[in-house]
Amino acid sequence: MILASLLCLLVGLSSDSKNMYPLAKAIACPPVAVDVSDAPEAKEWGETAKALVEAWHPKVTELLATDGRDPVTGGSRGEAYKPPAQIKLVFKKTLNVPAHASGDTITISADWIARNPNDLGMVVHELTHIVQQYPPSRAKPGWLVEGIADYIRWWRYEPELHAGSGRTKIDAEKSNYTDSYRTTAKWLAWCSRKYDMRLVPALDKALRHREDPMPLFEKLTGKSADALWKEFVSDQS
Ligand SMILES: [Zn+2]
Repeated sequence: MILASLLCLLVGLSSDSKNMYPLAKAIACPPVAVDVSDAPEAKEWGETAKALVEAWHPKVTELLATDGRDPVTGGSRGEAYKPPAQIKLVFKKTLNVPAHASGDTITISADWIARNPNDLGMVVHELTHIVQQYPPSRAKPGWLVEGIADYIRWWRYEPELHAGSGRTKIDAEKSNYTDSYRTTAKWLAWCSRKYDMRLVPALDKALRHREDPMPLFEKLTGKSADALWKEFVSDQS
């Protein structure tokens, strides 16, 4: 009788852990410096972006596997993420992309934000890259790195905007989970909700350890990434 109850409890615990997003311990934001020397007109937007980075650094670190614990087992594994001494937001008059992140610096196009002043979500995407800090590895798929950054942005920072805008259209003929950005993010969100909420932190943990993240799909959902994509596509309509 006692054994049966214990077994129920254990089964209950394991199915619960699939349904609960495993939050890491939040890590405070280091000082944020804004550099608008090349584009003084971006000063006000830069201050808003700075406040957003300060507020969201702890949240992004909670949502990824940053605290040296394995998000699947809960046991300790590897080093915790160490934030840079400071995060720099550098505004350039023109840039060939809206923004990019490298090391401790997010570089933002002043021209882009003048035309798209509401695009603060882009800062959350770039901030996620700073927290990712994945070491170089041949097993690291670039599409997954971008997909995780857009997952944090569109499914955690601005999920209502995503749902309302309906901008992530999946084309059954042409799209694939390796498309990067929002397509990958939408698929990751779908897999997480349907199968296991630990998926994104577990993928993040593998990338931090130079491990091939792809076997985790099978491990956590019982299906390959290809099979999950087919199922996801047939579920979109
Ligand atoms: Zn990116």
